Amino acid sequence: LIVIGIESSCDETSCAIVKNGREVLSNIISSQIDIHKKFGGVVPEVASRKHVEVISNVVKEAIEKANISFEDIDLIAATYGPGLVGALLVGLSYAKGLALSLNKPFVGVNHIEGHIAANYIAHKELEPPYLCLIVSGGHTHLVLVKDYTEFEVLGRTRDDAAGEAYDKVARALGLGYPGGPLIDALAKEGDEYAVDFPKAYLEDESFDFSFSGLKSAVLNYLNKMQMTGKEIKREDVAASFQRSVVEILTEKAILAAKKYKMNTICLAGGVAANSKLRDTLEKECKKEGINFYYPPISLCTDNAAMIASAGYFNYKAGLVSNLGLNAYPSLKIGQRL
Ligand code: ATP
Ligand code: MG
Ligand code: FE
Repeated sequence: LIVIGIESSCDETSCAIVKNGREVLSNIISSQIDIHKKFGGVVPEVASRKHVEVISNVVKEAIEKANISFEDIDLIAATYGPGLVGALLVGLSYAKGLALSLNKPFVGVNHIEGHIAANYIAHKELEPPYLCLIVSGGHTHLVLVKDYTEFEVLGRTRDDAAGEAYDKVARALGLGYPGGPLIDALAKEGDEYAVDFPKAYLEDESFDFSFSGLKSAVLNYLNKMQMTGKEIKREDVAASFQRSVVEILTEKAILAAKKYKMNTICLAGGVAANSKLRDTLEKECKKEGINFYYPPISLCTDNAAMIASAGYFNYKAGLVSNLGLNAYPSLKIGQRL
């Protein structure tokens, strides 16, 4: 079954051709990062316009690179939420048009479920059930993946997402956008025990997260150092901030796996690209005898291959959409419209 996936929820326009949910024939990603960089974040209006400009070519390139023709496509999958409404509408409308003209089934995909599915592409043997830690620019979720299309959210962030905290701290450190990879690199040169930033555990047994307190602590620390004329070692701040984030994510993921008797943990989302998070979870999982999976960096951040994969599994479960499907900016994981 050949699936064409289309992703346009934020600032990447992407189209991929994926066979049977796990084999990537092509995965073209056109990123707008350079355009949004000068604003320090994604400007929604600019993002929508840019998607419109490039989408036809991105799709054409994906078809050519996969060495197929439009007639070979069996299913069209596109992200319909969560994300920026104007951005979502571009990919979604394109996909619906394609489904209409090719007379092939169409399935709307939840972007976060797409991030999870990236693991199916990277690890052919992976099957539910497992525990998934999703850490992205807008979401931080601990999810029980009961089946390919069945999810139970055990915990989520109550304020900032992990990626958002990385981006905000990076901005305060004057590192640029997006901040995650920059902090990841800088932290390698710093002392992660230089500053003792807080970790929010919340109530006992809670699998929720909170990163705004940590973010504020970093900002306050920087202000205080500046006001007292002390030298700020940015690499130490980056490393110490990162240690707090990684420790809390790791501890809660391991606790949840034990409580729900899951012997597999998967990482997903843009922050899954983080080297410290991967290494720490790898080590802790090994100690506990838990299998640990994560996608390659290219499949962690936004791409359409993960959308095509999730679309395939939706289709297999009988979840097709009709062409009246609208974009849904605040779509929840597991929600079906
Ligand atoms: P969402 O998926 O929640 O809708 P999004 O699509 O904007 O949000 P992703 O593309 O999944 O987010 O991930 C982008 C985020 O990942 C950014 O916040 C970025 O800083 C972060 N990120 C990327 N690489 C790394 C890294 N090596 N370390 C930490 N964070 C990273
Ligand atoms: Mg992006
Ligand atoms: Fe994403």
